[in-house]
Amino acid sequence: MRRVSILGATGSIGESALDVVRASGGRLGVAALAAGSNWRKLEAQAREFRPLLVTAADDAAAHELGRALAGSGIAVAGGDEGLERAATHTAADVVLSAIVGAAGILPTLAAARAGKTIALANKESLVAAGSVITAAAREAGGVLLPVDSEHNALFQLLAGRDAAEVSRLVLTASGGPFLRRNGSLAEVTPEDALRHPSWSMGAKVSIDSATLMNKGLEVIEAHWLFNLPLERIAVVIHPQSVVHGALEMIDGALLAHLSPPDMRIPIAAALYHPERVALPWRRLDLAALGRLEFSAPDHARFPALGLAYAAFARGGTAPAVLNAANEVAVQAFLERRLGFTAIVEVVAEVLAGPVAVPGLPDIDMIMAADAAAREAAAELVRGRQAPRRG
Ligand code: NAD
Ligand code: MG
Repeated sequence: MRRVSILGATGSIGESALDVVRASGGRLGVAALAAGSNWRKLEAQAREFRPLLVTAADDAAAHELGRALAGSGIAVAGGDEGLERAATHTAADVVLSAIVGAAGILPTLAAARAGKTIALANKESLVAAGSVITAAAREAGGVLLPVDSEHNALFQLLAGRDAAEVSRLVLTASGGPFLRRNGSLAEVTPEDALRHPSWSMGAKVSIDSATLMNKGLEVIEAHWLFNLPLERIAVVIHPQSVVHGALEMIDGALLAHLSPPDMRIPIAAALYHPERVALPWRRLDLAALGRLEFSAPDHARFPALGLAYAAFARGGTAPAVLNAANEVAVQAFLERRLGFTAIVEVVAEVLAGPVAVPGLPDIDMIMAADAAAREAAAELVRGRQAPRRG
């Protein structure tokens, strides 16, 4: 049995991963479960999957969890220490990094330093700390297996191939719910923005998909996973989310990866890697699909993508600043304290300020930049008037 430690167990990716474990017929098991504050869901998951350890980052939740699971034989932990234990658990053959946002950086780094096989969904950790995490994994002999659908597709396409034969990586983007909407996006509500046309995901990544920041983060993620310069990583809009990624080969051929838009497929590919196993879920029916569409991203309407390329080009802690400012702005939008188009404006303003520093950063510099960017973004959000509606 291959045992998985799931960081972010109560989220969209975490629950999909548990579905993969459920469907595994005993080939996969759970070593540890970790999440933020939803202790009731963690308790139910722990009772079903019998991990060795379950942990809630929130102290009050950890306390409740400890009471709920007293006498169950399952160890309960909490806080940063609990996350680290789950990320480095000796019983874990693979660690699924699926916490949302920068909260995933340190647990992912801990898993990398422990030489773990990491199934990585938490793209923010590579955006902010890609150099540190990839170096730690390399030194400790660990591997990073991408879970993000586009990256998992590219990983599968690249397997066993000479990188010199590849001229560009192509990531597809659904374009989000506002791809075909006319007029200004300044007044759209969180409900509008959360209505993703092809994927069902957590709130943060759904908003990032609506602004296209998600694809900006993913381009940086692809750089750290596949070691190609950003000039050789392209984005194309593809509303059906059936083609997830493609390799443009030096001879002009394009090798693409297609699958139904179901995260359980790339999650299973990472958890079972290097094996491919039969899965019981929906297949692609190309004839029923009829057509697939592609178009170029509209950078004027969706400036987040260009902002991410620019932050990466600047280097230093700029990508960490981009990521942290975006998290604060997205949260403010979800709480109706900030308008939709102001999300990217806030991120751009924070990047234009003095927070980001150049040079190859260590983890302390990255976490300091993250904290400073959060403060700067919160200040800018307070200075703006959210649109009065929704
Ligand atoms: P989600 O909001 O549904 O779940 C987030 C999980 O993280 C929850 O279990 C929550 O308890 C936990 N968490 C939040 N803050 C925490 C903290 N401070 N400490 C410990 N745990 C904390 O998010 P999601 O949609 O599952 O996304 C998770 C990650 O996967 C994100 O980085 C996202 O970009 C990436 N991803 C998601 C999808 C998707 O389909 N949902 C696809 C590709 C990549
Ligand atoms: Mg993706």
